[in-house]
Amino acid sequence: MLYQRSSQLFAEAEKVIPGGVNSPVRAFKSVGGTPIFVKEAKGAYLYDEDGNRLVDYINSWGPMILGHAYEPVVNAVIERAKKGTSFGTPTALETEIAQLAVSMVPNIDKIRFVNSGTEACMSAVRLARGYTKREKIIKFAGCYHGHSDSFLIQAGSGAVTFGSPNSPGVTQGTAKDTLLATYNDLQNVKDLFEANKDEIAAIIIEPVAGNMGCIPPAEGFLQALREVCDANGALLIFDEVMTGFRLAKGGAQELFGVKADIVTFGKVIGGGLPVGAFAGRNEIMNYLAPVGPVYQAGTLSGNPLAMAAGLEMLKALNSDEAIFSRLEEKTAYLEKGIREKLTEANLAYTINRRGSMISVHFDANPVTDFKTAANGDNETFKKFFHGLLKEGVYIAPSAYETWFITDALTYEDLDFTINAIEKVAKEL
Ligand code: PMP
Repeated sequence: MLYQRSSQLFAEAEKVIPGGVNSPVRAFKSVGGTPIFVKEAKGAYLYDEDGNRLVDYINSWGPMILGHAYEPVVNAVIERAKKGTSFGTPTALETEIAQLAVSMVPNIDKIRFVNSGTEACMSAVRLARGYTKREKIIKFAGCYHGHSDSFLIQAGSGAVTFGSPNSPGVTQGTAKDTLLATYNDLQNVKDLFEANKDEIAAIIIEPVAGNMGCIPPAEGFLQALREVCDANGALLIFDEVMTGFRLAKGGAQELFGVKADIVTFGKVIGGGLPVGAFAGRNEIMNYLAPVGPVYQAGTLSGNPLAMAAGLEMLKALNSDEAIFSRLEEKTAYLEKGIREKLTEANLAYTINRRGSMISVHFDANPVTDFKTAANGDNETFKKFFHGLLKEGVYIAPSAYETWFITDALTYEDLDFTINAIEKVAKEL
């Protein structure tokens, strides 16, 4: 496959956009080479500027759970746009999507819409601090909760891909209020509570981590966090930006049967438009302005195009009883195929998966936290990535990312991918 036009476009972009991209991991820095410039997409496929077709396993980093250019979403956006794109007033549409979201997700009474996952997590933490009147939070190394200051401490995703999990520009004052714990290490969390008595406002966690590759929680870990929070008067925040409306209709709370105090959303909830949200029970959500003292706002928050897209997406997921089991089956099929081909090629690997989130780590040992995720062989990953790209399969350009499976993938697409993996694995 040729990427001539993409190369030219990237060279032009680099002159006027830092690194040529508006979000770092798109730049292919950790795998080398030139990013693919996409012209259009439909269903399971991306079509790039050079005319190549790629089977897509990134899916805009999660939102496209039903495939690209999903018609009900596209039509809803077109119809709404004709009526005006933003009013800065309430609309009936916002209540409609809020009602639907609240009906789908357990344990939430109210939801507030914002424009990104970053905003959702940033606001959730401010709310937790205001509500508990405490300042510190616990986050887990390798988890990514967006690029707001408090979270760029041992962050995953692009932050670690570029070797800067602690970003310059975050003040020491901010950093000292973020306590770091090891994913899946309960004792570590208990020790932090012991050492910071009555100071911790909340634990924030990706209930299935997706930003150090995919790392599911150990059996009972999330429930144990719930108990530690209750025992210490802290809130439990589930960052469901990846897992929400993906792992189950009601997200990780439903899947694991664990209640969080605040849940954050992004990606799927916006159907591919810029949407984030945070939600919780009345007593907590009523702490927000204009009813409560914690301030949070947004000129374009809840704007009609984003809400129309999100509403169609949630309606589609809510009305399709089989969607989550279909995603599970497709991803399990893919997992089995990858295992067979990597084993046949005698490669050292670990595959982590939960539902339609899956990742391949090139290391034979279990991958359970940030440290073990970092043991993966990046040279092998690079070759794997570029080999697949050549075969027309587009996975995330970093080992610290999850693949997102879409319902638009057919078993033919999955077989195409498994065959590509067979071919590439032989050459690794
Ligand atoms: N939380 C998680 C778990 C994420 O994966 C991401 C983005 N990948 C974010 C928060 C931030 O979302 P956004 O990029 O929309 O700001």
